[in-house]
Amino acid sequence: MRSDTTFDQMELSDEMLAALANAGYESPTPVQAGLIPRALEGVDVMGQARTGTGKTAAFAIPILEGLRDGKIRGPQALVLVPTRELAVQVRDEFVKLADGQRARSVALYGGKPIRQQIEKLRGGVEVAIGTPGRVLDLMSRGALLLNDVDIIVLDEADRMLDIGFRPDIEKILRRAPTDRQTLLLSATIPPPVERLARRYMDAPEVLNFSPVEISGDTIDQYYFTVDGERKFDLLVALMSREQPKQAIIFCRTKRGVDKVHHRLARKLSEAECIHGDLAQNVRDRVMAAFRAGKVRYLVATDVVGRGIDVSGISHIINYDIPQFCDDYVHRVGRTGRMGSEGVAYTFVAPEEGNELTRIEIRINRLLERAEIDGFETVAKPTADASVLDEMGDGGDEAPPAKPPPFGRGGRGPRRYRRAL
Ligand code: AMP
Repeated sequence: MRSDTTFDQMELSDEMLAALANAGYESPTPVQAGLIPRALEGVDVMGQARTGTGKTAAFAIPILEGLRDGKIRGPQALVLVPTRELAVQVRDEFVKLADGQRARSVALYGGKPIRQQIEKLRGGVEVAIGTPGRVLDLMSRGALLLNDVDIIVLDEADRMLDIGFRPDIEKILRRAPTDRQTLLLSATIPPPVERLARRYMDAPEVLNFSPVEISGDTIDQYYFTVDGERKFDLLVALMSREQPKQAIIFCRTKRGVDKVHHRLARKLSEAECIHGDLAQNVRDRVMAAFRAGKVRYLVATDVVGRGIDVSGISHIINYDIPQFCDDYVHRVGRTGRMGSEGVAYTFVAPEEGNELTRIEIRINRLLERAEIDGFETVAKPTADASVLDEMGDGGDEAPPAKPPPFGRGGRGPRRYRRAL
């Protein structure tokens, strides 16, 4: 799983970048791309993410980056986890990412002599990872003090509540400094998890990284073959034909978002944009207006757009084809929520046939080609394209490695794309 943000863009320390390279983490997973920047800003985040998505590093990286120097004895970060195995696994991830830094981690869990854990705490640790029962036990013995804790993570919160850790978690949170930052990770967000977040977190930002099931029937998915310079006119024509209730228009870059928004706002009212370079209060204001249905067209980047969970979204427009297939899944999953109907249109430049094929393989479904009556999306076909068009049907030659440009009004080179 990858995203189009890089670790370099996250303003991480040289030590951290080296540790990431050492660990073989080349680019952030979507959970990391979404969570790390917000966590570094000190925001409370409730992230919906399953295990296997890189969620551990998503909170370990900002924790390690935020550690204070100096004579601090107690842990500066506390991670609560449901099981011993997870405590060990999370501790190991911290050790791996703390390579080259003075950041000592300890795993605190039952079934092991408590003495050793007390000794370790006595020697001083920066990060404590533990199951709620053992953490509380160590606190009541005076071995674990939370005075210096800046950040608490509730990892796999739904599982912790299922196991019955709620009273222990609440006791721990009540004894932690009130000005701490809290991150909550959970595969699902049932009402008990939400209640916990409401009581013990400070205006948590909700980010949804759960895998989206989009092979479902509620989202119709189409593509347009369109020349780059015709994309904007196509967008306007499509919006005027479709009259969406609410649409998100995804662009690949922040600059792209700004440009499309600027032009769109001159043609249509109720258009706004959102991306990572905008001030947080602007982003919050735009999101609130979108949620309230006051914004009809939202132009967005993947990083900001993929966490949006608003039920009124009827249309997803992939103005730029996503770079990674998972981004497609996340983008399109913004519509058709809770069984409501949605439609997604992907704009594909003639030379982007391969990208479209990769998406189709990923979602195990072919997108249907769309057209708008009387709207020319591509320039006249080249001589090459017409030759290939003639070869189009039947024939058993091996398909070329690269798809030919799409011909005007003709069928897309599906045969070639599918064969890739
Ligand atoms: P987690 O969801 O935290 O259990 O992580 C799942 C696996 O992904 C672990 O084995 C991590 O070491 C690995 N992992 C985490 N982040 C990355 C990344 N950016 N690139 C490659 N592997 C990663």
